[in-house]
Amino acid sequence: MPRSPVQPRTLRRPGRHLPAAASLLLVLAWAGCATLDRGQSLLPTTPQVRTGPFVVYANGTMSEDALPVRCLRELERDVGHELGYHAAAGDEPVEIYILKDRHDFDHFLKFYYPELPSRRAFFIAKGYQRVVYTYISPRLEEDLRHEATHALLRGAYGDLPLWLDEGLAEYFETDLVRPSAERPRADLIMADLHKSWSPNLERLESMTEVGQMNQRDYREAWGWVHLLLNGPEPGKKLLMAYLTKTDRAETKARLRPILADAHIDDAGLRTHLNALPHTPVVATKPSSASRPAAALRFQDGPTAPPAAPSAPPQRERERERGLFRRLGSWLGL
Ligand SMILES: [Zn+2]
Repeated sequence: MPRSPVQPRTLRRPGRHLPAAASLLLVLAWAGCATLDRGQSLLPTTPQVRTGPFVVYANGTMSEDALPVRCLRELERDVGHELGYHAAAGDEPVEIYILKDRHDFDHFLKFYYPELPSRRAFFIAKGYQRVVYTYISPRLEEDLRHEATHALLRGAYGDLPLWLDEGLAEYFETDLVRPSAERPRADLIMADLHKSWSPNLERLESMTEVGQMNQRDYREAWGWVHLLLNGPEPGKKLLMAYLTKTDRAETKARLRPILADAHIDDAGLRTHLNALPHTPVVATKPSSASRPAAALRFQDGPTAPPAAPSAPPQRERERERGLFRRLGSWLGL
């Protein structure tokens, strides 16, 4: 049986914890009347598939080869390839709840998290429990990858600075083996640069609440992660040392001064971003011919994702139609 819904990621930051009494109310409400009109539980109650560090809950039956399961499997592989992630044997699995549709998800949010802005998916953590909630949509793959990345990072490295947590989730939310996967994001960054925007890691590093970050801040966070993982060493070496630094949280260690000592700074990121349109924005090579098709970009926030400026409308419509066709396989849930 699934446990009671727990605190969302945005609520586990300092000063925003729910009081114990409120948590108790949530538990009581869960036990009492958390059902949809048709008498069905708000959340799927039967685990359908266990894959790596994830256990997936969904209504109905889900096969081992269903797209959400494959995408979680591939995410684990990508995070393993890039960051050396391996699920620890004793870790509790990350619970993934996939609700049937937006209506059910809104109902669930209204009941348990009325304080949250509308969004398609979110990750919550309480102690060792890590949970992702989302619903079937054309962006399910992208949403799952983003939120499940937060869950894996939380399990592997504990609490990370907000900008780095979001930058890594943005980096892994797209299918890294697709050569054009990050083209829309690169186009938006080029537009930012043409509008005289410049990276500013000190500013980014000062943010502690998700609500402080706008769409461009998410893109900048992605850019830093892209630079560190794909640029020249010692970028990746410094990132990995920072992620695995055992006293990082206690000492409130920041990454920016460490990067600055290695001459990795705002100007360097600007140069890296300016070169994006001329270099492949992929990090890994395809390892399988049976990979799922593309997903649209997901921005973790209450606002709708921006349209890719360089993508012709007709092509976008074709991509959306393709994604809706793929819903056929998801509906086998
Ligand atoms: Zn996020």
